[in-house]
Amino acid sequence: MRALYESTVPAPSNRYRGRFAPSPTGPLHFGSLVAALGSYADARAAGGEWLVRMEDLDPPREQPGAADAILAALDAFALEWDGAVMYQSRRGDAYRDGIARLAALGATYPCACTRKELQDSALAAPDGSLVYPGTCRNGLPPGKAMRALRVRVGDAVIDFDDAVQGRIAQDLARDVGDFVVRRADGFVAYQLAVVVDDAAQDITDVVRGADLLDSTPRQIHLQRLLGVPTPRYAHLPVAVNSDGEKLSKQTLAAPIDAARPAPALVAALAFLGQAPPPELARASAPAVLAWAVAHWSRERIPRVRALAAPDVSDNPVTR
Ligand SMILES: [Zn+2]
Repeated sequence: MRALYESTVPAPSNRYRGRFAPSPTGPLHFGSLVAALGSYADARAAGGEWLVRMEDLDPPREQPGAADAILAALDAFALEWDGAVMYQSRRGDAYRDGIARLAALGATYPCACTRKELQDSALAAPDGSLVYPGTCRNGLPPGKAMRALRVRVGDAVIDFDDAVQGRIAQDLARDVGDFVVRRADGFVAYQLAVVVDDAAQDITDVVRGADLLDSTPRQIHLQRLLGVPTPRYAHLPVAVNSDGEKLSKQTLAAPIDAARPAPALVAALAFLGQAPPPELARASAPAVLAWAVAHWSRERIPRVRALAAPDVSDNPVTR
């Protein structure tokens, strides 16, 4: 392969454009409220814009009506976004374009491996996850048809300074391997969609859950290949239940009560280390957000990847 990154990568601009990018797989729960509030307060405290992008890329996982329910919840929490909501489901042309640009660089190749073959052949990364061993890197095995499209990682070692988690480094060949940019079912892979969308929306600052920390080096690799700016990153601790599982629809996280937004917002601020005064829970949602923006401190955010969620509801499934 030729030199991996051929273009000069532009620096992000000095202004601030942040975003919240939920997947519409269910109603807003405490974990997604933390990500929404953290990205909102960080953007507004910097005098920046805050955009919303619906990551509705994976139709089988989506719940009908969930996107609208999330937007209605943001409204109820007074989390006002700038501009129109971007929907990944309407961005097929932009993703095809991104893949075509990677292909033109010689950075992609077809992969014929089935899920079972991948499980049997994969190498183990230091963290126990599976690393693609490069079976199809030099051409499809005879008689095999393409399933997915992968991007080469070469010998890229990516490091970056995360505003919350500190210095992060990943050796892509050792820890991940050549990764999928177009899935066997024809859908674009999440990593590519995020990079194309962050560039299209001119995002300068990505504030999101630390469950995406290990994806970031792959995204930076794609940014460098595509010659788009790398945003600044801040990965917030992820809210987990008492079993240490990330709150999600799958772990039966209770939806937050949008009829009583202030207590949930105050709990989310406390989770983010911002030490809100307890009486703030009796204020209005806009008043809580005004306090959050005025007092926002990145330094106070706990520098861990996961934290136990507080019990913000009487619903027994959160306990
Ligand atoms: Zn393969």
